[in-house]
Amino acid sequence: MTGLRSIGKFQYRTPNSLTEVLKILEMPTLAGKILSGGTDLILQMKQGLLSPSLIIDVKQVPELNRLEWDPQRGLRLGAAVPLSRLLAFTELPKEFSLLLQACSLIGSMQIKNRGTVGGNICNAAPSADSAPPLLCLGARVILASSQVTRTMTLDDFFLAPGKTALAEHELLLEIEVPMPPAPSAGCYLRHTAREEMDIAVAGVAAFLTLSSKNGQLQSARIALGAVAPTPIRAYGAEATLVGKAVTPELIEQAAERAAGEADPISDLRGSSEYRRELVRVLTRRALRSACKELGIKV
Ligand SMILES: Cc1cc2nc3c(=O)[nH]c(=O)nc-3n(C[C@H](O)[C@H](O)[C@H](O)COP(=O)(O)OP(=O)(O)OC[C@H]3O[C@@H](n4cnc5c(N)ncnc54)[C@H](O)[C@@H]3O)c2cc1C
Repeated sequence: MTGLRSIGKFQYRTPNSLTEVLKILEMPTLAGKILSGGTDLILQMKQGLLSPSLIIDVKQVPELNRLEWDPQRGLRLGAAVPLSRLLAFTELPKEFSLLLQACSLIGSMQIKNRGTVGGNICNAAPSADSAPPLLCLGARVILASSQVTRTMTLDDFFLAPGKTALAEHELLLEIEVPMPPAPSAGCYLRHTAREEMDIAVAGVAAFLTLSSKNGQLQSARIALGAVAPTPIRAYGAEATLVGKAVTPELIEQAAERAAGEADPISDLRGSSEYRRELVRVLTRRALRSACKELGIKV
């Protein structure tokens, strides 16, 4: 790989309690970075994009390794839980399958053994694969500092490429995903130039909840990755679907609207026109897949 350089000196701490992490984060003079799996952070340091004077490795912190599911609270996913542990967690109901689809696409087995959903969203790449499913599932993030613990929706967490709502002395503690109402189903699809080990040129998650009374859509969520400065919800496309019975024409309208809501750039992976077209195609396919799972013929 070109452009890699040796990493400058830094302090390395491995606290084993949340209290200890928060105390370190409070230290005023150190430019510290949290390391969950390091699969983004170390590469950015090797590329010279970051040179923190302190690395706080939170892998061993029990509070960040919580992985629980129950029907009332939904999923509680600690920020340092490796992707492979989440993928092997068999208690999750099928409504969460779009999140697992996305996580299974991230990197190789080695990357999954180190990398985390926490790191994926804190890194705030527009192409982060876990973000669109989490947006569709109504995820909330719990942020902690030594002063306060606060909760916000994931929609509010992403501010710009590489920038989140995390304050200087804060860390992401966990991600909460509420249990969706039944019957619901979703799907995450992405397009990459290479089949494996590549990042999304565009990614689309769709999540539908059917009304048990009249067969119409009670709720529809569509989220887009890699086609705007942050992962985004396609609110207009969602509104096209809600309160209606699904037809092929309705899916086309929603896909068209989602493409219009994307705000892609052109880069070496694809032009903005190409990305917009991908959004249209992937939205159509993701919606059809969710419908199929709900037993709707389209
Ligand atoms: C070969 C390769 C393939 C990859 N493929 C994909 C892919 O297909 N899709 C994809 O989306 N990504 C991919 N990635 C990127 C990366 O693996 C993922 O984004 C991964 O989920 C990052 O998790 P991590 O725990 O390693 O993050 P880290 O590198 O530990 O952290 C990332 C950033 O988040 C911050 N951070 C981490 N945890 C916290 C916390 N608890 N609180 C506050 N800040 C925190 C760090 O300081 C850092 O700035 C790939 C990377 C590589 C090297």
